[in-house]
Amino acid sequence: MTSRTLSDIIATQTNLVQEAAEALPFEFSQCTYSLGYIRQAVYLCHTCGETRGVCSACSVSCHTNHEQLELFPKRHFRCDCPTRGFSRQAHHHCTLHKSSEDANEKNLYGQNFKGFFCRCGRTYDATTERETMIQCLACEDWFHESCLNLRERPSREPTPQPPPSTTTTENNGNIDNGNDDDTLSEASSSGLPPPLITASKYESLVCSSCVLKIDTLKKYAGTPGILMVIRDSTKDPWKVIGETNPQTTGSAEAERSGDIVNVQDVESGSVAVGQKRPRAGSLGDEPQTKKVRDEGGENSTISTHSSNGPCLAPPINQIAQEILSTIESHSSSPNSSSSIPMESLGSGDLFLTEGFRERWCRCNACLPSLQSHPYLLEEEETYEPPEDPDSGLSLEELGLRALQRLPRDKAIDGIRAFNEFKDELMNHLRPFAQEDKEVTAEDIKAFFDAKLAAKEQR
Ligand SMILES: [Zn+2]
Ligand SMILES: [Zn+2]
Ligand SMILES: [Zn+2]
Ligand SMILES: [Zn+2]
Ligand SMILES: [Zn+2]
Ligand SMILES: [Zn+2]
Repeated sequence: MTSRTLSDIIATQTNLVQEAAEALPFEFSQCTYSLGYIRQAVYLCHTCGETRGVCSACSVSCHTNHEQLELFPKRHFRCDCPTRGFSRQAHHHCTLHKSSEDANEKNLYGQNFKGFFCRCGRTYDATTERETMIQCLACEDWFHESCLNLRERPSREPTPQPPPSTTTTENNGNIDNGNDDDTLSEASSSGLPPPLITASKYESLVCSSCVLKIDTLKKYAGTPGILMVIRDSTKDPWKVIGETNPQTTGSAEAERSGDIVNVQDVESGSVAVGQKRPRAGSLGDEPQTKKVRDEGGENSTISTHSSNGPCLAPPINQIAQEILSTIESHSSSPNSSSSIPMESLGSGDLFLTEGFRERWCRCNACLPSLQSHPYLLEEEETYEPPEDPDSGLSLEELGLRALQRLPRDKAIDGIRAFNEFKDELMNHLRPFAQEDKEVTAEDIKAFFDAKLAAKEQR
């Protein structure tokens, strides 16, 4: 305890922490259990081995050296760390919320909590996964771009792998990876062509099994601003329907729907929702994200009352409807799993473009199925740890703080990006601690600037 070396290290760490805390002002000292069921980032702990989730503070404080995987936001989720549902580990105690609580009966534990993702049900391996994964707005599961027909499935071992790390033996989805070799993450994020629909072209994904449960969404499939990926035959390439073109389709759609103002808003999307940032899909607009989302909450003027007026939904897209009914009949037939048939001409997933929440028809027929999925009408609040520049932070906490600042309303690069960023940021910060240097806000900023530049070059 009185070791000179140790106190040196602590002093160095303190300097590093104080400087960085100003740049990354979040606190991880409070378990969110007492906040109840909220939308928050949830972490799966492989080491504890429970089909349960913990909050970001518990991820840092109670599962410090455990192998974990961030599942990103899950709605209506209460932290399991202090509960008896987490009791298989005889020695597990929540370090933040000390009283032992009953198991959370209202948490839903989908396949992500068993380590499975996407409709293909694969496990996630940060060391081999090359694809961006995209989160469904409705079920909050994660989907491979290739499973959404946005690209070919890349081969799994295209890049040279670094020698096995001496600090970890298990790499599956490991976000607590002390790997000092950053060649891995750089290699894994490059070399793929852009997906058929790039991140800047849409705001949210809804997977087909969720689409089938939401009548109004189903009705809008493939109409302007509700993109779908289809092909004319199994020999043809995948293409996108539902793309809007302000020059040509605006007036035609307006005439058909009988509501020029409404449809012009649809067609000019970005104008109608001018307060929102352009979806550049880059890390550079991250600092605005929080602000924009806050404003979204305050300024929201979306009516939640249905009108007795005529239905203003666009005419249905016949091709999209046929694809969805094919999938629906396949998934309900007794001999098949819920997977999508190989011969299908589309997987039925929908990509909702910027401003989609403002565009729905709110007639008596359209509104009810949207209201039963409120996130389709109004962007949800997602819990963020409270700000507290004075709290003492470990290197791990610094990394998590920085990652909290990534755009989470979409998580463009999803789980893979999280692992990359965590490893890279740790590698960036570690020398400061080792070489007795102070880290400044500029150092942190330099890290993000370099990431941004690299991203723009791709
Ligand atoms: Zn917690
Ligand atoms: Zn754990
Ligand atoms: Zn805990
Ligand atoms: Zn998949
Ligand atoms: Zn879904
Ligand atoms: Zn309607």
